[in-house]
Amino acid sequence: MFSTTEMSTTVVMKFGGTSVADAERIKHAAARIVAKRESGHRVIAVLSARGKTTDELIAMAEEVSPAPHPREMDMLLSTGERISCALCAMAINDLGHQALSLTGSQAGIVTDTSHTKARILDVRADRIMAALDEGKIVLVAGFQGVSTSRDVTTLGRGGSDTTAVALAAALGAEVCEIYTDVAGVFSADPRIVPSARKLPVVSFEEMLEMSASGAGVLQLRSVEYARNHGVRIHCRSSYDDGPGTVVVSEQDTLEQALVTAVTHSTGEARITLLGVPDEPGIAGRIFSALAEANVNVDMIIQNEPIADGRRADMSFTVPREDIRSARAALEPVVEEVGIGAIAMDEDMGKVSIIGAGMRSHPGVAAKVFNVLGDAGINIEMISTSPIKISCVISGDRVAEAVRGLHEAFELSGKETILLEDPFEGPR
Ligand code: ASP
Ligand code: MG
Repeated sequence: MFSTTEMSTTVVMKFGGTSVADAERIKHAAARIVAKRESGHRVIAVLSARGKTTDELIAMAEEVSPAPHPREMDMLLSTGERISCALCAMAINDLGHQALSLTGSQAGIVTDTSHTKARILDVRADRIMAALDEGKIVLVAGFQGVSTSRDVTTLGRGGSDTTAVALAAALGAEVCEIYTDVAGVFSADPRIVPSARKLPVVSFEEMLEMSASGAGVLQLRSVEYARNHGVRIHCRSSYDDGPGTVVVSEQDTLEQALVTAVTHSTGEARITLLGVPDEPGIAGRIFSALAEANVNVDMIIQNEPIADGRRADMSFTVPREDIRSARAALEPVVEEVGIGAIAMDEDMGKVSIIGAGMRSHPGVAAKVFNVLGDAGINIEMISTSPIKISCVISGDRVAEAVRGLHEAFELSGKETILLEDPFEGPR
């Protein structure tokens, strides 16, 4: 009755943690998956760990070890997604369909060997294909794979999005649907700005900047992967049937907003190296050490406060959770090249505005700085890209900054994007 024909298209449906948090939500997800199957699609569902499971597993590890071994951490963390898949498969079977749950390894997700932050190298989808050909619904545990040295790996926080996109690419899926507890991608976090607007369409370029600057909806790597492989992403609510946000290439967006969204993060830490010898090669040494420790550095500032110009101060931001590994990686370098001191500031935040239209409009940065200045918020660091302006500020001023910028750029609740130039004066 439910056999797949050659004509039927493939859809990947990914359910986030809140969408599988309890028995009721799992049954609801199962029903949605079954409905999609009954409408004639070949369906692969990728599930996240339930609710706060991943956080709880991390806490459990920290109870027994101050710095848990990364390989064992992955063995532990990968269990959360397996639980979700097995439970959902049971619920689907009870709805009269055949479901097959697979771990990342069984699903053919091959990664590199960098535990807790692995990258997908290959997707060997033959087992999934065979199951789909038999008319089965395939459930894949998100966020995990098997490394080239046959160990279980995980893909970093939020990694189930990347599993879903990678499978959609490998299987030539029509769409990769990301089901979540919000209705799509918003012009700001609706918990901070209640009047934030749902964006019907976002370009990959904007979405990359948004994910990189704190929008939690999609893992950054999933957006990169989707852009590189031409996967269409649809972020939508698991609570209702309404359309969410579609992420597409820039040619497919009709209009370019000056500013599309305000994003933020409160998880930043700043590291300052004082008295760094101002010689060629030193910055390379410092950042190679951080790169080897897999620490993602965001903003970097260097200045030369000492008159003779032989020493500089260097500040940069890293995710707060990486501060321990950053310090461990830097200590030998500090010793070796004779850096004066390391200072850490753990309570930094970042606010960013993103919009493809700012490429061709002057004055956006000035407006951002004025809004923050008028609110008495000190800007500690600044970085820009052609379509983004980010400011590092004190962590406790972030919400206020987000609200101020969202209002100043008039991003609230309009159904159509403003095309007029809100700035006065010549371009
Ligand atoms: N469960 C993992 C996390 O919380 C992966 C995911 O949900 O995408 O980061
Ligand atoms: Mg997520």
